[in-house]
Amino acid sequence: MNIELIKKHYKTISNEKLISLATTEAHGLRKEVVPILMEEIRSRNLDKNIIEGFDRQMKKLTHEELINYCTIVQNCPCPYCGSTSDKLNGGVAKNTISVLLFTFQNTKTFIACRNCNNKFYNSANTKTALLGWWGLPWGPIKTIGTLIYNSKIRRESEVTAPSPLLQNFVKENIGKIEIEKNNPKGLQRIITITE
Ligand SMILES: [Zn+2]
Repeated sequence: MNIELIKKHYKTISNEKLISLATTEAHGLRKEVVPILMEEIRSRNLDKNIIEGFDRQMKKLTHEELINYCTIVQNCPCPYCGSTSDKLNGGVAKNTISVLLFTFQNTKTFIACRNCNNKFYNSANTKTALLGWWGLPWGPIKTIGTLIYNSKIRRESEVTAPSPLLQNFVKENIGKIEIEKNNPKGLQRIITITE
């Protein structure tokens, strides 16, 4: 591997890309590249927390630490309604829609309060129940599968313990959460999932 080329490459990428490399993609980096990345971050005078976020991502996470990070996320205001009355949890609602006899599926992932969680599932179920059936032969089969899937995942996000989806989200974003853990606005940005 050509270290000089990598140094040059890091100098050309944007701050955003550099931060994303350090905080969400670090575990995919080869270890000889890490000091070059750190040097570039230091030379740009970026937030020193980025290096802490990077370190956090590289360390093995114990179950207790994972739950602590989940609690930080769960205590945020709901990104959809702003409510702080109950703990947030992660969910994923599947939609099945048939158009001209073809059946399509997509999912919406979210971290939300119980009320908003319910709204997402209800809206996915209503849409699926109205529009899922009309495809052949998969429409009816996938419609029933979707309703069963949504009700199973919904149960996981209705409890106050962090759902499997939330735990995965926290693991994937641990570097970013470490950086923003004392910054409510930054946390809010992280937990607002847009897909
Ligand atoms: Zn809400």
